[in-house]
Amino acid sequence: MTDEVAQVRAFWQGLGLPGLFDVHVHFLPENVQRKVYAQFDQAGPKIGREWPIRYRGSHEERVAHLRDLGVRRFSALPYAHRPGIATYLNDWARSFAEQVPECLWSATFYPEPEAPAYVGKLVADGVEVFKVHVQVGEFHLDAPELDDVWGTLEDAGTPIVVHAGSGPVGNAYTGPDPLRRVLERFPGLTVVVAHMGAPEYAEFLALAEAYEHTFLDTTMVFTDFFDAEAPYPRDLLPRLVDLQEKVLLGSDFPTIPYPYPHQLEGLERLGLGEDWLRAVCWGNGTRLFG
Ligand SMILES: [Zn+2]
Repeated sequence: MTDEVAQVRAFWQGLGLPGLFDVHVHFLPENVQRKVYAQFDQAGPKIGREWPIRYRGSHEERVAHLRDLGVRRFSALPYAHRPGIATYLNDWARSFAEQVPECLWSATFYPEPEAPAYVGKLVADGVEVFKVHVQVGEFHLDAPELDDVWGTLEDAGTPIVVHAGSGPVGNAYTGPDPLRRVLERFPGLTVVVAHMGAPEYAEFLALAEAYEHTFLDTTMVFTDFFDAEAPYPRDLLPRLVDLQEKVLLGSDFPTIPYPYPHQLEGLERLGLGEDWLRAVCWGNGTRLFG
């Protein structure tokens, strides 16, 4: 057993958990995955800093690694960076989830005329989670083409992970305002705010407090890597304790520049207690996704 595996297993065993539920993991078609790695390697304009990705194995190797770590449930979270590709990504993610039983059946959409139809079909077929990324996709969450999509997701209760915060590099589409406008119109949506909304932590925390089905994922937050550029304001921590039921473990595996256990270490050193860690790392995910 590697040190990394031993460290992660000791973490969840010490809490008396059966394993981890990581709501923010990426698996993409191989050709797309390689392009994502290349973007990070170049530290391109949407990345903004050195970001040496640590996990670059094949799909099989990465699934095996998650299993070794004891990550018993995880997502695949494809996201579309332009129109016309969501269906390709969604077909791939559907077959991936069929082959990997721990993986949530994940999908994405883009503001395009076909979106209401393909989202409606996925929801009817039983898709388990959506992901959109407005920083990469460069669209407004409240684009009119998405009105029917939000209505469908609100009615079905299907969770959607939204990268809406302005990290790592903000643009005209990021920030809390577009999501706030969507929630004002669709207050029953089940939204998981990726990266706790970094760097607009306070604004997205307020949305999670205000809307019954709005959650926050921990992805990369509380790590040394994020603390260096967008540290979580310590004065908000008491409110995260109150929101214990609405914080979900996310890691961004494999697109991370540090070992997987460092995310857990970041959570542990907050000192918010074992109950909080149990809820975040397992209980909340199982309750949300069944
Ligand atoms: Zn991600």
